[in-house]
Amino acid sequence: MAEAGQSTVAGTNEPLVRFEHVQKTYDGEILVVKDLNLNIERGEFITLLGPSGSGKTTTLMMLAGFESATHGDIVLNGQSLKTVPPHKRDIGMVFQNYALFPHMTVSENLAFPLQARRMPKAQQKEKIQRALDMVELGAFGTRRPGQLSGGQQQRVALARALVFEPQLVLMDEPLGALDKNLREQMQLEIKHIHENLGVTVVYVTHDQSEALTMSNRIAVFDDGVIQQLATPSELYEQPENAFVAAFIGENNRLLGTVKAANGGMCEVDLDSGEHVRALPIRIDGVGSRTTLSLRPESVTIDPTDQQCDNVFDAKVEELIYLGDHTRVRANVCGHDDFVIKVPRTTGAPSLAEGNTIRIGWRSEDCRALDAAS
Ligand code: ADP
Ligand code: MG
Repeated sequence: MAEAGQSTVAGTNEPLVRFEHVQKTYDGEILVVKDLNLNIERGEFITLLGPSGSGKTTTLMMLAGFESATHGDIVLNGQSLKTVPPHKRDIGMVFQNYALFPHMTVSENLAFPLQARRMPKAQQKEKIQRALDMVELGAFGTRRPGQLSGGQQQRVALARALVFEPQLVLMDEPLGALDKNLREQMQLEIKHIHENLGVTVVYVTHDQSEALTMSNRIAVFDDGVIQQLATPSELYEQPENAFVAAFIGENNRLLGTVKAANGGMCEVDLDSGEHVRALPIRIDGVGSRTTLSLRPESVTIDPTDQQCDNVFDAKVEELIYLGDHTRVRANVCGHDDFVIKVPRTTGAPSLAEGNTIRIGWRSEDCRALDAAS
């Protein structure tokens, strides 16, 4: 456990970490992290997800202590980290490029953080074995990193971050160098290790499916700002702005102007001329511009009036058979990149390239968001 303030906060509801109005600039001009406020709860797996350059690594480095905040404070266990050096923060770290010591054996790599903490030799041995068993490399202690595959090396890096039983583990795109199958396997392994150990994990990735697979909560970053902080299902089903809707999963975007708002719904005139009913989430009122966001699986083919209160013609441009569903690209409301996902169980004889079909969606599934492009 950390020396940091544990006596005052152990057993309370104090989050493990609090970012308080944290800002960061490297050049004295551009803020790459802007007024970040974020609580990290004990035991959770939280992911910072966002495009390259959005400030994820900078945020992680400030928490680890390798970068300092330009403004604001980071609090760990109720104690400000301003004067706490990295090695006193009780934080394990894993990076994309493993950063193992090539001249040391696997066991020696794992011993390193334990020696730094002056743990007795006998105890070290036991901890190392347990950590290696955890990542299923129990028999590899005497190998050198160069004698291991990429996936095995990344497991060693994971074991080294966990071996001293830190309260908090930070991972920055740790699976980025691995191929798809191995990456997906490691995602589940890390998730299970987290569940078994109960350690708090802050994970960085730009890969939305990785974030959805692993996280309890996801903070979506763009341009140094958290755009939304929510569970995976909330992010997918209830995106709060156009950026999140576009970044998480697939969505159809229709641009228009709000014509009326009443009874919890709004009426939008699309730029292409059609009229759509939608659920107002983030609009500035009548007359404001809006982006309508609609998931491809929320679209019904040949709907009845009861099913859908928005019904339009769609010209089928392209059909892609994907086994469990068919992906339809269609021209809808002047957009020829409108996507519809049709489940395998839905029989739709009219579905053929070149045909014009009727499609529809419920206004509740069509979210009126900000106009940001
Ligand atoms: P992410 O991890 O989301 O890709 P980063 O935190 O690495 O984003 O970078 C955020 C912004 O800060 C980028 O514009 C990047 O170029 C800049 N940046 C990152 N590290 C440094 C540094 N050491 N010096 C100057 N600028 C940096
Ligand atoms: Mg990064």
